[in-house]
Amino acid sequence: MAATTSRDLRTRNRARVLRALVTASETTRADLATACGLSPATITNVVADLIREGLVEERGLVPSEGGRPIARLGVRPDGAFLLGADVGEKGVAVELFDLALTRLDREFHDAPTRATDPAPIGEALRAAVAAIRARNPEREPRLVGLGLGLPGIVEDASGSHEGHGEVLHAQSLGWPALPVDELVRPDGLEVFAENGAKTLAMAERWFGAARDVEHAIVALLGRGVGLGVVSAGELLRGSAAAAGEWGHTKISVDGPRCRCGGTGCLEAYVGADALVAAWRERGGGPVGTGWRAITGLVAAAEAGDPAAGEVLDRALDVLGVSLANLVNLLNPQKIVVGGWVGLCLVQARRDDLAERIRAASLTRPGSQFSLELCHFEGDAVALGAALLPLERLIDRPLTARSP
Ligand SMILES: [Zn+2]
Repeated sequence: MAATTSRDLRTRNRARVLRALVTASETTRADLATACGLSPATITNVVADLIREGLVEERGLVPSEGGRPIARLGVRPDGAFLLGADVGEKGVAVELFDLALTRLDREFHDAPTRATDPAPIGEALRAAVAAIRARNPEREPRLVGLGLGLPGIVEDASGSHEGHGEVLHAQSLGWPALPVDELVRPDGLEVFAENGAKTLAMAERWFGAARDVEHAIVALLGRGVGLGVVSAGELLRGSAAAAGEWGHTKISVDGPRCRCGGTGCLEAYVGADALVAAWRERGGGPVGTGWRAITGLVAAAEAGDPAAGEVLDRALDVLGVSLANLVNLLNPQKIVVGGWVGLCLVQARRDDLAERIRAASLTRPGSQFSLELCHFEGDAVALGAALLPLERLIDRPLTARSP
């Protein structure tokens, strides 16, 4: 019993120190002791273990006042490698990161058909993972795992995001309930899965605009509309991981039909397809349905085009009210907006949107948040997904695996 307790304590201390090292670019043993609330002797032992594991390195010495020089510490970038995948309905981006979370490689695969069948996405995902692993064989022995950011509810009975038994419910894509290991099961590699908006929220919470913020909402606006809620420092999951399906909260009782089958959902107003369709209905000429169409819409509105202006105003109205509902419900310190549609809208009209949110919020919580663009240019869903295997490494040492 006593042995188990002391082992648990060592594991907990290792996790605390390694997490602090990953999120700090560089630190010292003394600063780690303060940051982790551990004694200098404990820090010395844990850091020695992490150096032995090959995850942490000393990076030279800095002079101290009168005493011995102090060693600077950081993670060893090549100490471990992580794969993260942004699985969208139209394609899959798989990215390889080192332990310093520097992106080393990227592979994008289109899924040409947009059917109610997840098979082409599974194929694209498996091909992208295989291509990256084939290009980086020397990194295999220290590859911790593959994290997936998925387009739907990722239900996980065990609550650990790992192993088998996770099921993806992507109702908006018309997919049947899909066990994650039917989507991808790479040889010799652990797979972890989470909803894409939640992985984006993790990336912003660890390294981005929501860093060190205990209460934040991270909105992901693209073709779909997602949300990650950080409450008291933790990602809100609900009873079965479906918490945060903000895109399918209702804006009106009898609004337009949504891809999920319901009517009046937020996504049916401010999702990319809805914006493009609204502009076309008013006589606009969007190019395609993606990035170019949305940047075109915003540019036209900014140039004074009345139809585009009307569509943008309406989108900001709806978004303002929806975010104000979250402000009243959750009392965030920070609202972070990301995703390619979010980026376009907020870059052009941040103050305008903040004003609309405040106008629709109760005065007190409305005065307690700031609105920010996501820190990462474009999406950080893949980076956030790579944090899933990183959390596994933080919780348990990497056991040597042959390539
Ligand atoms: Zn819906």
